[in-house]
Amino acid sequence: MEVPGKLELIVGPMRSNKTAELLRRIETRRQYAKQYVMLLKPSDDTKAAAGLVESRNRQGCVAMEAIEFLSADPWSVLPTLAETEKSIGKRVDCIAIDEGQFVRDLFLFTKRLLEHGYDVMVSGLELDFRGLPFGEMLELNWLVRTFSGNITELVAYCSCGAKALYPQRLIDGKPASYDSPVIMAGDNYEPRCAEHFVLPGKPH
Ligand SMILES: [Zn+2]
Repeated sequence: MEVPGKLELIVGPMRSNKTAELLRRIETRRQYAKQYVMLLKPSDDTKAAAGLVESRNRQGCVAMEAIEFLSADPWSVLPTLAETEKSIGKRVDCIAIDEGQFVRDLFLFTKRLLEHGYDVMVSGLELDFRGLPFGEMLELNWLVRTFSGNITELVAYCSCGAKALYPQRLIDGKPASYDSPVIMAGDNYEPRCAEHFVLPGKPH
């Protein structure tokens, strides 16, 4: 039986530097542990150029090469993984996934990788603009407990200074209504606390 991998989850709302933290951890593993880390990016991610993961923060922009895959089919990465291991002549040590909330089958895909001995790092949003669970990010908590690992909760602040729990979606500067699509182009977000989170038309 293979020794299972460990899962590192990096969660938090928009503008909490999740991607920067993911890239920093990849760099550390590569530089100091001499690990081979494969960075994956679901193709629904429109914030960076093809094949690149970029982090946005005040310290500037950091970009790292990534393997893009269709968010609806993470399994398509497995042949690429096998080819990479053949060409480098050893196993890949760690697989990093940015924007995990967009990945279909994220729970099963991550579980499969852990069971096969890969360390996995996933960054992403836990809640969508409606304040509802986003994709399968919340389900990964079970994998952290079961396979051991850790969760890092990054914090963003509302303009009032309170901890921001929710991603406030803005369309033309106004709060988006509950019935707008979960994924849409041209939207804009800011982190808000429970008091300042506005969601017109929400049923509950
Ligand atoms: Zn606030």
